Amino acid sequence: MDFAYDSRTLELQERLRTFLDQHVYPAEPVFAEQRAGAEGDARWTAPPVVEDLKAEARRQGLWNLFLPGERGAGLTNLQYAPLAELTGRSPHLAPPALNCAAPDTGNMEVLAEFGTPAQRKEWLEPLLAGEIRSAFAMTEPEVASSDATNIETRIERDGGHYVINGRKWYISGAMNPKCAVFIVMGKTDPSADRHRQQSQILVPRDTPGIEVRRGMEVFGYDDGDHGGHAEVVFHDVRVPVENLIGEEGGGFAIAQARLGPGRIHHCMRLIGMAERALELMCRRVTSRTAFGKPLAAQGVVQEWIAEARVEIEQLRLLVLKTAWLMDTVGNQGAHTEIQAIKIATPAAVQRIVDRAIQAHGAGGVSQDFPLAQLWAAARTLRLADGPDEVHKRSLARRELRRFA
Ligand SMILES: Cc1cc2nc3c(=O)[nH]c(=O)nc-3n(C[C@H](O)[C@H](O)[C@H](O)COP(=O)(O)OP(=O)(O)OC[C@H]3O[C@@H](n4cnc5c(N)ncnc54)[C@H](O)[C@@H]3O)c2cc1C
Repeated sequence: MDFAYDSRTLELQERLRTFLDQHVYPAEPVFAEQRAGAEGDARWTAPPVVEDLKAEARRQGLWNLFLPGERGAGLTNLQYAPLAELTGRSPHLAPPALNCAAPDTGNMEVLAEFGTPAQRKEWLEPLLAGEIRSAFAMTEPEVASSDATNIETRIERDGGHYVINGRKWYISGAMNPKCAVFIVMGKTDPSADRHRQQSQILVPRDTPGIEVRRGMEVFGYDDGDHGGHAEVVFHDVRVPVENLIGEEGGGFAIAQARLGPGRIHHCMRLIGMAERALELMCRRVTSRTAFGKPLAAQGVVQEWIAEARVEIEQLRLLVLKTAWLMDTVGNQGAHTEIQAIKIATPAAVQRIVDRAIQAHGAGGVSQDFPLAQLWAAARTLRLADGPDEVHKRSLARRELRRFA
């Protein structure tokens, strides 16, 4: 077993570290300042500094690293993992700068894998160029959406069109005026087998009948730079039949295919977030004294630091093993490991960030450090892309099947 990264990964890692040091970290205060003054459409758009970073990343060839094959950088999951980890250190700036941010990444993967040549030309090409944004609309307020078979939005055929009716919420990116297209999941045939009722369809944002109602909050954050998380209502929205992705009834399978890479990308970035939190914690506790000795000399603080380091190493190994399995036996073959990392990583990173917050005192929950936002992101990822309990249920059932 070889634990070393290959030469291409090492080279990209070095270039990305330099990009972060020279461009991304210095842009963080600029980003905060630009966000503070943003109102109206600007509130829901990445601030200008992100566009500057995008231009620089593209110039340096640090672009679309997430996408395998010739349309993207052509990296394997194992090669991309440590790079995505680095982007997690500045989660609001680095992923969009590199055109590697969700939900666009998942939408690009779906279009690359299941899109027709015409769909790819119209939507994938501008997404790959970073010219437009997109959203994925599955979750609904009225039904338990962690079970995707509950989705109630209707996609009904009417001659050469499909007509869409339904209400969605927490649709990331949809508040952004640059979000040009939604991939909508709904039911084309409610009488079919449970997993064949759903389809996915491309819906241009300017189609009549779409009402982007409001931005949902996450612990009080609107995530406006990321395009927010919108409640969207579809009232008799008509799109041509050519907008269907794949075949009628294939929506559930496409959703499953999309979630494998999406989940591992989140976990990779979460590890970077944990590294950043641990680094901040170590710097803080060595620079402050309470009750006559540095915070770093307190046993409990040392325990937090040691446990964080051990957990990060454990998580990274499991994520890398999962990436390697996805590359070698495919996403289906890596099913159990993908669930394992999605269960383990957000929960552990939430705990690590929480302790870093504690070590910072009031500063930890303030806007002067990124810790409060990192905590909110880690906590949220215990719900998004499938709640912890759903992954545990599925993993346990697989395990039990071996003994049935
Ligand atoms: C910040 C954020 C961004 C998001 N972005 C998007 C997006 O872009 N597009 C999109 O479509 N959705 C998005 N979502 C929605 C997310 O995917 C859903 O919230 C998630 O799938 C859970 O669905 P639900 O909220 O309907 O919870 P429910 O299905 O109502 O589940 C509620 C709780 O029930 C429990 N539960 C459910 N099933 C089981 C079980 N089998 N065993 C034990 N307990 C169980 C779990 O604790 C779960 O958290 C986002 C959510 C957040 C918070």
